[in-house]
Amino acid sequence: MVKETVVMMHPDRGGDAEVFQSIIQAHGVLIHPDRRAVYDNEGEEGLSKYMAAVRTDMFNRIFGRAGVSVGGRRTMDRIHCIRVSLEDLYNGKIHPVTFTRKVICVTCSGKGGKQIGVKECKECFGQGVTINMLQNLPTSSPCQLCFGTGLMVTVGDKCPTCEGQKVVPKEKTLLVDIEPGMKNGQALTFEGYSDQSPGAVTGDAIVVLEQDDHPRFERNGDNLTTKLSIDVLTAIAGGKARIKHLDRRTLAIAIPQENLIRDREHWIVPGKGMPVPGKPLAFGDLHVKISVEFPKNLSVSQIQQLKEVLGPILEKNLSPNEDLDEVVVEAFKKPETKDDVWLENASEEGCSHQ
Ligand SMILES: [Zn+2]
Ligand SMILES: [Zn+2]
Repeated sequence: MVKETVVMMHPDRGGDAEVFQSIIQAHGVLIHPDRRAVYDNEGEEGLSKYMAAVRTDMFNRIFGRAGVSVGGRRTMDRIHCIRVSLEDLYNGKIHPVTFTRKVICVTCSGKGGKQIGVKECKECFGQGVTINMLQNLPTSSPCQLCFGTGLMVTVGDKCPTCEGQKVVPKEKTLLVDIEPGMKNGQALTFEGYSDQSPGAVTGDAIVVLEQDDHPRFERNGDNLTTKLSIDVLTAIAGGKARIKHLDRRTLAIAIPQENLIRDREHWIVPGKGMPVPGKPLAFGDLHVKISVEFPKNLSVSQIQQLKEVLGPILEKNLSPNEDLDEVVVEAFKKPETKDDVWLENASEEGCSHQ
C-alpha cells in the first residue's frame, strides 16, 4: 500500500513535496524495524525525537571517529581476477596484485571539510536512504550523496586535499600467496582492503584465480591427465618413456619388453598428480593416455624386411574354401564431435564479476 502511494505522490509526477517527504519518512520506518517499534509505541512525536537522537549519534560517530561503522553500513567488496598457470597452482607462487582504492582523507580525517559545516542531506531528506524506481517499483537504497549518513558538509568548507569527497585514491599492492594445489576459480579474501568510506566498515578485496589452459596437462580435481606417444618399436620391444612434469622433473617410465603396449591404453601413475591443499605430501594421481605412433614413411626394402619378420598374417588365417567378396574402402570422415572424451571433464570457471 505504502509503495503505491509513493509512486502516486512523487514530486516529479506532480505530487506535493511535503507529502512525499512524510511518506519517505514512513517508508524509512518500514525498512528500519527499530524505527517501526518506536513509531508503534510512541507515535510520530516519539519517532521524531528518536530520529534526532539517531542523527546526533551518527554525527558524533562520523565527525568524532572516522571509520567507525554506522548502522552496519559496509563498502562494496572489490574483485580482482588474476591469470595463473597450472605450474603456479602446482608449485605455489607469490603473486602481487596492484590496484587503486579510496582511503579516508588524512587532511580532514574523512570529514570532507576543514571546519565542520553540516546540514541535512537534501537528496534523502536526512534519511540516509533514497527511493528509486526499479521496473516501476519503488526500492530503497543507501543515499549516494551522503553515503547513507543523512548528513552533508556545507559547500565552502571543502577540504583542499579531497575536495570535500572525504576519501582520496591510493595505490595498494597485495601479495597473493598461491598455495600448491589451489584451484581454478578459487577466491582469496583480503579483509578490509576495498574502498574506505567515512562511517562504514571497509569491504574486502577478493582475488579470484583464473587458470590458463595447459598445452600438455588437464586437471580434474587433484588428478592430472596427459598424453604420451610411444613409437611402435618401443611398444613391441620395450624401452623408456619420459614425461616432463609441472615442476620440471622428468618422470622416467620403464616399458618392459614382455608387455606389448596397445594404442589408447590408459595408465595411472599414483601420487604424481596435483598436490592436495591442506595435506602436506599428499598428491593426486597422474593419468597417462597412450597413443602408439606408427612410422609414417617406410621404404619398399623396409616393408620387405617387416614382412620377413612378421610374416604374411592375413593369408595365414584364410581357409581354402572361404567365400571372398572384394570391397573398396574410403577414408572415414570424423563427425564434428569431440573425440577425446576423456579431456572433457575439465571445468572452467570464469571470473564473471568483472
Ligand atoms: Zn542523503
Ligand atoms: Zn579531505
